[in-house]
Amino acid sequence: MPNRLRAEVLLSSAPEGGRAALEPIVTALANEAIEKTLNRRGGGRVVEWELAGPTLSITIEAPEARPHGTLLAFSRRLGEELGRAQKIGVRSLRAPEYRLEFILAVLPTTPVSIPIPHTLTLDGDRATLTLLDLDETALRENWADRAVKLLEEKIRRQSYAGKEQYWTLLRAPIAREPKFLQDPTEAMIKRQWVRGGPTKGKWFLGPSAAHLLRTMERIAREEVLLPLGFREVVQPHHDSFETLLKTGHLEGLPGEFYYVVEPKSRDPAVWERFTDLVKITQAVPTEELARLVTGPTAVLCYAQCPTTYWWLSGRTLATDSLPLLVFDRAAVSNRYESGGRHGLERVDEFHRIEPVYLGTPEQLVALRERLLERYIHVFDKILELEWRTAWVTPFFMQQAGVIASDDPHQRIQGTIDFEAWLPYRGTREGSEWLEFQNLSIVGDKYTKAFTIKTQKGELWSGCTGIGLERWMVAFLAQKGLDVDGWPDGFRRYAEPLPNELHFL
Ligand code: ATP
Ligand code: ZN
Ligand code: MG
Repeated sequence: MPNRLRAEVLLSSAPEGGRAALEPIVTALANEAIEKTLNRRGGGRVVEWELAGPTLSITIEAPEARPHGTLLAFSRRLGEELGRAQKIGVRSLRAPEYRLEFILAVLPTTPVSIPIPHTLTLDGDRATLTLLDLDETALRENWADRAVKLLEEKIRRQSYAGKEQYWTLLRAPIAREPKFLQDPTEAMIKRQWVRGGPTKGKWFLGPSAAHLLRTMERIAREEVLLPLGFREVVQPHHDSFETLLKTGHLEGLPGEFYYVVEPKSRDPAVWERFTDLVKITQAVPTEELARLVTGPTAVLCYAQCPTTYWWLSGRTLATDSLPLLVFDRAAVSNRYESGGRHGLERVDEFHRIEPVYLGTPEQLVALRERLLERYIHVFDKILELEWRTAWVTPFFMQQAGVIASDDPHQRIQGTIDFEAWLPYRGTREGSEWLEFQNLSIVGDKYTKAFTIKTQKGELWSGCTGIGLERWMVAFLAQKGLDVDGWPDGFRRYAEPLPNELHFL
């Protein structure tokens, strides 16, 4: 069956002469619109049209393309022609029914649906999706194609769910005798280095732990970032919804964000009841509070790269500014980890340096090699870790149900995970290693989404998230909390250590 759009064009008043008078204009304009939008894409035709008062109903079919573009072209020209002849304009458009036909690459295992009015029938791999009651915005913004894409993605995801994440070893670890077998967070709690924070999944780092975290940060800056020419930026902690719409994080991770709400007013009079209740009850009047704040208006920083791309959005980078190498260490990452929380390695608030790079494909591939060299130097020679790297499916591909390429020659765009053995979790072979950072080249995904350009040629980007709590946990889990067990290269950076605190 062909795609079939049944639509209504609401005019500002009923045209003179009724259907008969309108016939030549409608026929001519429909042919013109079909010519323009469908003829090179398998063709199409007007099945029928009618006029009832100011409402012109029209049904368009197309065997291959989706004909909403035809309707838009037709109604725009109709408005022009009727405007000139009879001072009648087009008020609005709607589509009571839009039937879309497509072939599924994989069949669903359980029923799928989408959150707009529709019916869906399957005949083998042939899907018929009928969208109901689309308004003008939905037609103009191409909800039809998005709805088909969403269904295809949801079905593809069903076949992907439950499968192991794609993972293939790149750099094998050098075995090192562990100096420590305990959970470093437990050990730090005992020594009063850290205390579980006042709110969920957060930690207070006392002077000893803070010193270690900042030492890790210094090593990353001085051994990796500054030698490669990265320059620091300072970015805000709140990410706008617009930014996360563009990166795809909003559709991908809505359950992992901490959301920002704002007071509806800062007028003390508005807050009087709240303040009085606090004074009397010495408790939080949560219902009253909910009434006084807005719904979510932004998101606490999840990762820094989205807002770095926002900074560059709509800009054209001069060739002499490429590759552009920047890093942020100001914004703190916040994630709702829920059941996955554990110690300092999986927390709801963590400190990360996020370097972001933009350049030609060649520049980024060369940069990745230099970054890897510097990282190898740090993890082998300074921290002396037992660590490995793996080629994995990047998050944005995972969400779309696509897996990473098996072919080493195809491994240009994608993500490398860096993982460390945590001896307290078990044997090297039998336990899950900790991802302590990663390194991605994402091609033109974000430069396109944020319209970031170069003077000439392609512009790619990528990022490498350096998780400082994870560096610290990986190090302490293998080397322990005592300086005696630490490699000289690290001691040179870390010493002198602050005096340990003793509480009675
Ligand atoms: P994971 O698979 O462990 O959840 P992720 O894929 O969500 O990690 P990314 O979004 O790629 O992590 O973030 C990059 C880096 O940020 C990680 O390599 C890690 O160092 C750090 N990181 C991510 N989530 C946390 C967390 N909950 N606590 C501490 N560090 C984290
Ligand atoms: Zn990033
Ligand atoms: Mg995660």
